[in-house]
Amino acid sequence: MKNFNTLNVSINRPKGKYILPLLKGLSYTLRQLFTKPITIEYPEQKREVSKRWRGLHRLKTNDKGDLKCVACGLCVTICPPDAIKVVPYEDEGGRRYPKEFIIDEIRCIFCGFCAEACPMDAIELTKVYDYVDYNRNDFIFDISKLKTPEKFIFKGK
Ligand code: SF4
Ligand code: SF4
Repeated sequence: MKNFNTLNVSINRPKGKYILPLLKGLSYTLRQLFTKPITIEYPEQKREVSKRWRGLHRLKTNDKGDLKCVACGLCVTICPPDAIKVVPYEDEGGRRYPKEFIIDEIRCIFCGFCAEACPMDAIELTKVYDYVDYNRNDFIFDISKLKTPEKFIFKGK
């Protein structure tokens, strides 16, 4: 076993060695006091997200305000985590639409496949990225919530 008393370790470091880095750090801090801040006051201020951002879903409507969805179920089939449920309905005139359309926004992985697969261009992923809540059930979005995803933008408490 080595005797540590015999190790040739020098603990005498020049005192000035720490002054220069310290001054450099202080000068950097002082410079930042006079530059424009790079932080923002979230949630009052929001950053613009990428054009390709995939956030909460929207069920699109036509000029009359009716859902464009014809409840074909393609989005249900293609959804990897099985996050979509659609119950179809057909009226007397033969028009199909969803009686129920539910997306579990917690299960969803925001891949965008549902929007890509939709033959009616009836669903899209919006830029709403900061929906928060305390209850898991609030992340189950039905038709009324899916029509207005902007209502769920986080505005602070
Ligand atoms: S974005 Fe992907 S995971 Fe989410 S509902 Fe659509 S297909 Fe399913
Ligand atoms: S959103 Fe599109 S793919 Fe999904 S059920 Fe409706 S029409 Fe079909």
